[in-house]
Amino acid sequence: MIIRDNLEQVQHKIRQAARRSGRDESSIQLLGVTKYASDEEVQELFDAGLGVFGENRIQDATKRIERFPDAKWHFIGSLQTNKVRFCEPFDLIHSLDRWSLAEALNARAKQWGKLQGVLIQVNVAGEASKSGLDTSEVKSFTQRVLLDCPNLQVRGIMTMAPFVEAEETRPIFRETKRIYDSLQQELGVCWDTLSMGMTNDFEVAIEEGATLVRIGSALFAKEDKDE
Ligand SMILES: *Cc1c(COP(=O)(O)O)cnc(C)c1O
Repeated sequence: MIIRDNLEQVQHKIRQAARRSGRDESSIQLLGVTKYASDEEVQELFDAGLGVFGENRIQDATKRIERFPDAKWHFIGSLQTNKVRFCEPFDLIHSLDRWSLAEALNARAKQWGKLQGVLIQVNVAGEASKSGLDTSEVKSFTQRVLLDCPNLQVRGIMTMAPFVEAEETRPIFRETKRIYDSLQQELGVCWDTLSMGMTNDFEVAIEEGATLVRIGSALFAKEDKDE
């Protein structure tokens, strides 16, 4: 029952954050990040009505997808080019961050006869430890993907904020939203996914315009807060 309660709490917080910023809660999708979870816990979440999950390692993801074929799966971790062949089951890959990966994914997607959904990962905070394109490269990179990768469908961008106090992430999310809007305008495209916000900072991310939050710990934590 803990998982169900956690899910309800997260959904409640999503709703509140949406309201605070005058947004419709239905414009925000919750992605359950299952990397810390057992299969039993994933099953509980699925039974409670959550149907879209993310993993950040290909091997773990492949096993999970076999066990939960009726859920939808996203890939959110950094992706090695030689692992691209395992990516067919993913509805969306959040971590397109370099040209060699775009080429490899496009070639595979063509073989699969699939239009592969991708997000461009942008390192807005400029942290050396994080992957993602530099903000100065995003536009030309995206243009190149749009032109030369007919089997990739760019659906938006993804970013990770530094692990700091939630409120301190706000400028990063605000800047990411600005980039998301201006790229669509400059490139003449229409996207549906701005993936930002995790357990630590999803409420701020929603206030700043996230359309998808990636949440792990808050769903699976074994509640040890005092009530
Ligand atoms: C693990 C992970 C998350 C979820 O993190 P939590 O803090 O547990 O919510 C989100 N996005 C990515 C890319 C991750 O690797």
